[in-house]
Amino acid sequence: MLETKNAQQQDSDPSLRYSDDQVAWLKKARAFADSIPIEDVIKSDVENSFRRDLFERACQEGMGALPFPTTYGGTGGDYVSFALVNEEFARRCVPIMSSLGVHVLCQEPVFRFGTEEQKKKYLVPSATGKYLAAFGLTEPNAGSDTAALETTAKLDSKGKNYILNGTKTFITSGGSADYYIVMAKVTGDAHKPFPSPREEGGKVDTITAFIVERGFPGFSIGQKFDMLGMRGYSTCELVFNDCKVPVEATLGDPGAGRKVALSSLAKGRVTIAAQATGWAQGALDGLIKVLRDEKSKGMFDESLNGLASVVGDLVTQVESARVLTYQAAGAVDNGDTDVTVASMAKTTATDAAMKVSTEAISVISSLGLQPELLLERIFRDSKAGQIYEGTNQIQRMLIARTLLR
Ligand SMILES: Cc1cc2nc3c(=O)[nH]c(=O)nc-3n(C[C@H](O)[C@H](O)[C@H](O)COP(=O)(O)OP(=O)(O)OC[C@H]3O[C@@H](n4cnc5c(N)ncnc54)[C@H](O)[C@@H]3O)c2cc1C
Repeated sequence: MLETKNAQQQDSDPSLRYSDDQVAWLKKARAFADSIPIEDVIKSDVENSFRRDLFERACQEGMGALPFPTTYGGTGGDYVSFALVNEEFARRCVPIMSSLGVHVLCQEPVFRFGTEEQKKKYLVPSATGKYLAAFGLTEPNAGSDTAALETTAKLDSKGKNYILNGTKTFITSGGSADYYIVMAKVTGDAHKPFPSPREEGGKVDTITAFIVERGFPGFSIGQKFDMLGMRGYSTCELVFNDCKVPVEATLGDPGAGRKVALSSLAKGRVTIAAQATGWAQGALDGLIKVLRDEKSKGMFDESLNGLASVVGDLVTQVESARVLTYQAAGAVDNGDTDVTVASMAKTTATDAAMKVSTEAISVISSLGLQPELLLERIFRDSKAGQIYEGTNQIQRMLIARTLLR
């Protein structure tokens, strides 16, 4: 799938690297990204406001359920194509980029673990953009350590509803979503009806996944976060106060919540890697634009006044991130169950985005702080990229652990 050509050839002609369908998605995503005025990109960041209209437009163009089969409204594309869409969106900081990535992340467990009714109910409207989805795993006292979840789910006396209590935090699209994939610990005697309790370390694992609709009684949106980076994605707390969730809204087997969550996040990491590759490329684009302009004014000699090796290093970092990212996306398409490459891609690409944006701002100095160049935005977003969907420190531990197993 990925032919080995030299980087310059690949850059000038994507058909040397990707299939016709993949190139078509790349071009479609690039046209979409370029069609959004830079003022709109900046406004969403400054006002920390989500562009639902753009999300719906992307869905109507087939990007809302790109890697899912047409049976449930998906587009039937591959993961490499979805990665290309994410890379192009990130390159220009399209204000819906992160929400779209999480939206697809949430469809993954419904597609893999959902009942036929759940698939029909949630996947089809997710594909059209009628529904936006969010993923609720992190809690105030449970980030990297997913086993520490404190949100509880208890079956009511009639056995018809689970009653959820707790808070989820830093949830992308939290304030705007229509449904949420939520992980909670089943408490009390409620785990007894489990068909086959999952044993882990001699203990029954009670973490269970649920599909919680925005309108369920006892559910509300908490604090909206006004963060340094990743602004405009409606990142909020989710509050469950005796929230009534019908038993039919359990996603996957009771007690299998960690499997549901972590297997989806493994693919999600490829999406983040693609986004970070786009950030790194976007930062490089901003730097090159300024350097070309200054060179045309005779401000540089052939060595870019000694900066050429810095620029060469940054270009290499972007390309390294891209190669690992598409290796990881290709592995998903090939059904490879080794998720280590996804962790490597996520870590490499987010670190590259951080490094390229930091160095680019250093090189062009105060010009790099102008929002129109997107460098300062990418600098802020990359920091968040190193943290979410599993911090880079945790990814490195996962990679090492696999080797030592
Ligand atoms: C912009 C943004 C969007 C997000 N969106 C979502 C979302 O949609 N859904 C969701 O569920 N969550 C979301 N999150 C939360 C995110 O996934 C968590 O922040 C992340 O998993 C880290 O958890 P934490 O912040 O609690 O840090 P902690 O887990 O407390 O970690 C703090 C530090 O300690 C390190 N550390 C932790 N444990 C270990 C260990 N065992 N060994 C070595 N080092 C360790 C970490 O690497 C980190 O550096 C989002 C976060 C951000 C910033």
